[in-house]
Amino acid sequence: MAEHDLMEKLVSLAKRRGYVFQSSEIYGGTGSVWDYGPLGVELKRNVKEAWWRSMVHERDDIEGLDASILMHPRVWEASGHLAEFTDPLVECRNCHRRFRVDILLAESGAAELEVARCVACGVTGEWTEPRQFNLMFKTFMGPVEDESAVVYLRPETAQGIYVNFLNVQTTARQRVPFGIAQIGKAFRNEITPGNFTFRTREFEQMEMQYFVEPGTDDDWFEQWKESRIGWMRSLGLSDDRLRLHQHPPDKLAHYAKAAFDIEFFFGGTIGDEGWGEIEGIHNRTDFDLGRHQEYSGKRLEYIDPATQKRYLPYIIETSAGADRVTLALLANGYREEVVEGETRVVLALDPSLAPLKVGVFPLVKKDGMAERAMSIHESLRRQGVPSFYDESGAIGRRYRRQDEAGTPFGVTIDGETMENGTVTIRDRDTMAQVRIAEEQIATYVGERIA
Ligand code: ATP
Repeated sequence: MAEHDLMEKLVSLAKRRGYVFQSSEIYGGTGSVWDYGPLGVELKRNVKEAWWRSMVHERDDIEGLDASILMHPRVWEASGHLAEFTDPLVECRNCHRRFRVDILLAESGAAELEVARCVACGVTGEWTEPRQFNLMFKTFMGPVEDESAVVYLRPETAQGIYVNFLNVQTTARQRVPFGIAQIGKAFRNEITPGNFTFRTREFEQMEMQYFVEPGTDDDWFEQWKESRIGWMRSLGLSDDRLRLHQHPPDKLAHYAKAAFDIEFFFGGTIGDEGWGEIEGIHNRTDFDLGRHQEYSGKRLEYIDPATQKRYLPYIIETSAGADRVTLALLANGYREEVVEGETRVVLALDPSLAPLKVGVFPLVKKDGMAERAMSIHESLRRQGVPSFYDESGAIGRRYRRQDEAGTPFGVTIDGETMENGTVTIRDRDTMAQVRIAEEQIATYVGERIA
């Protein structure tokens, strides 16, 4: 399958099965924001929960936080976002569409702007001079819409963590090294949103800022790099579609000493020949705490209780996009195969992340099978196993619907169930079926999810 087809197929599957819808679709949609439907919200929640579990619940050295989206406007002066959070933008003189220069060059395949072809109208080299454009959304706090009331929708969740550094450190009685983790919405007025949920103007980040003693930062950076790519693998993303990309020194952000991106191979027009960033790992030095100390006038130093040494910790940041990781899982899991002359679409999601774990099907709607199947379905739900009951259409079609939805197990209630209480359980990926006692379904599924 050509890679550009994959994204189109994913958009269509996502809509058909209730994963992702265009925002405000009945008004024609917006193209830059998307809504997660019944299955999509479950998948994304499972991703976020897996992240929270591995970052916060399984560790003693990382605390959680939920900071607000709207912050004091000085935060964005201190962070550098007001001055630096800009992208060079060009406009096509022919069709007046605007593009981010780096994305335009990547998409048009040109090395320089002069020879770049407009991806919207096809005209070559008719570009305005690149102009800086601030990516933050502006709004007003309170009833008066003047300059003193301007606030911004946060373009990253990280700043909420920095300004709470001492609050968390002292109340949780943490000692450096320790981290603060947060999941939340971020907003960027991206010039060229697109590629489905890859680049949107409203998205969710899963960020962890790890505070370390200066001098230990390089070691921690290496540890976090390995640990984060390991986490991506643990979600079932294929190793050959994951890579680390190092930012060359001349491309580093103003705050960074070192930066790597974890990239996933989406294919098509995403990123660098199909490789797109899903998480950034940055050594931000003491830039952030230093700037907030300077701009707020409040001391943000840490005092080592053992040595009484005072210092501003360095920060190792791990910043992943919940939407991009979710999209990577959809792209990674999508398969088409021909089975008995028909194309079968399968979403091979890791069972632990799949929105629904089990489909429950009566073979036919007679001899009490439907009632028995419904009672099995209800019992699974009560035991905390997300289950879906389906009695409509041929059994093969019902399997196919759940294959597309990514449901890893299909339970069928047939004549034998009515005689001896056993059911068949079918594996989504291999289509192999085994027969087990109905009371064992939850345990069988639970073992495979763990
Ligand atoms: P890009 O170079 O693709 O614009 P970035 O380097 O600006 O990304 P970061 O600021 O490092 O991204 O943000 C951390 C993570 O947030 C990214 O790895 C990505 O997963 C997610 N992210 C950033 N911008 C967007 C967006 N516009 N839409 C969806 N997710 C995003």
